[in-house]
Amino acid sequence: MLCLTLTGSDVQESLNQYRDHADAVQMVEVRADLLSCVDEQKIVQLVQTIDVPKILTCRRVRDGGRYKGSERSRLQILERLIPLGFSYVDLEDDVKRPELDALAHEHGLKIIRSFHDMEGVPGDLYTRIVKLHKRGDIPKAAVMVRSINDAIMLFKIEKELRDIPEKVIIGMGDYGIPVRILYKRTGSLFTFCSPTGTSAASGHLSPEIMHDLYHSDRVTPETRIYGIIGNPVMHTSSPKIHNPAFERIGLDAIYVPFLVNDVRNFFQLADLLSIQGFSVTVPHKQHVLPYLGKISREVKLIGSCNTVLRYNTLWKGVNTDFYGFLKPIQEELDGQRIRKAVVIGAGGAARAVVWALRNYYCKVVILNRTEATAQKLAQETGSSWGGLQEIDKITGADLIVQTTSAGMPPQEEINPIETYCFDGHEIVYDLVYKPKRTRFLQKAEAAGCKLVYGMDMLVAQGILQFESFTGSTFPDDLR
Ligand code: NAP
Repeated sequence: MLCLTLTGSDVQESLNQYRDHADAVQMVEVRADLLSCVDEQKIVQLVQTIDVPKILTCRRVRDGGRYKGSERSRLQILERLIPLGFSYVDLEDDVKRPELDALAHEHGLKIIRSFHDMEGVPGDLYTRIVKLHKRGDIPKAAVMVRSINDAIMLFKIEKELRDIPEKVIIGMGDYGIPVRILYKRTGSLFTFCSPTGTSAASGHLSPEIMHDLYHSDRVTPETRIYGIIGNPVMHTSSPKIHNPAFERIGLDAIYVPFLVNDVRNFFQLADLLSIQGFSVTVPHKQHVLPYLGKISREVKLIGSCNTVLRYNTLWKGVNTDFYGFLKPIQEELDGQRIRKAVVIGAGGAARAVVWALRNYYCKVVILNRTEATAQKLAQETGSSWGGLQEIDKITGADLIVQTTSAGMPPQEEINPIETYCFDGHEIVYDLVYKPKRTRFLQKAEAAGCKLVYGMDMLVAQGILQFESFTGSTFPDDLR
């Protein structure tokens, strides 16, 4: 079940939030600590209007909430609200008030006995959950996930604590996002989300994301898991390419972002969750290479891998940037050939671009801020090289490709070849996809050049990944 934490500062705002998201959620949490005034009559109105199970919570600051008053007055608030028609009450594990437990049971509420660790995942996590369960309640652990190893600990709960059928497991922070999306794989009864534009806790996603994009509530043990690894990774648009396409072809599959600090540990998680394949982004395109039992010709040439697939008992690496880069220019070229291309940058993306162009016997000049890196790539690929200042000496280029991270935040004001005057005949391609029209592309457009956007490449390489993952053609209407 997906539980919406109402973050409104009054009952009316909370009701509006519920109405906006009612189709996506099966429960709500009323957080008395977020209300500016706890008015019992209004809360009765809220409880009676919302026709799904409701959790009553009043969270202290030290547990990630906003209640700043004394513990005595907090428990008094809970005592006043318990009889108003809630289905659950959340009581922290250190609250030892048998009369509050008795009041909850008398009014038919189940007790969620929670503990919060805002610093990390405690080493005695499993024993603490078992202890809470022994008190006869639903145990809830909300812990800050700080690494892939922490996420592994949470996903192992499903198997380790299978004897506790009703439990709630929450992974906070960016490393915890897969734990929230795949909450069913931890054995968690439900997970939380916040109304669009608000966040009640670190890592809360909106109901649109949890329900419309990921369909988290549909995940079963049979659902095939795919994903993307990177650091950072939460800005990625790839889930919006893959998840709707899985749905369209009727495949029970989900594509999830994984913030990864250590690739070796991610491969352990991939085995634990039976992940079927994943995309790889900065900075892990080279880090995955030692774990691959088989690699494609393109990965061998480029020396980096952006797609990993399960292949019998091995992992196979392919690189869809190679063909994904070419696809949008082939559409622009309309049968013509590129004779001379200038590639700005010599990082991981440039390697795929240069090899793809050299594969078509195109002459390539690589210009990079750090000249030695340009030289190395040029020597491997039989290209020419220089520093960025060499751009002003370039003539007769059919294609100029910008492959550096200049142009994307926080470098959105930077055009790495600011002094260059486009003659208007070049095709100008920027791999940066956010923003769509970088400063570099704006200048090329003003000179009348044909533009190719990074988003076109992102989609083209994503479609190729989808086809490698599923063996199915990408749906036409989603292209
Ligand atoms: P990378 O390996 O870290 O390489 C970064 C490159 O950018 C290096 O050549 C670096 O030069 C250069 N650079 C960074 N800041 C610069 C600045 N202010 N001025 C001049 N040069 C600068 O990164 P990557 O994997 O190649 O990715 C680069 C970009 O391509 C990113 O924006 C990424 O999102 C984009 N990309 C897009 C797609 C797509 O599908 N559209 C696919 C892959 C990558 P030095 O060598 O001097 O440090």
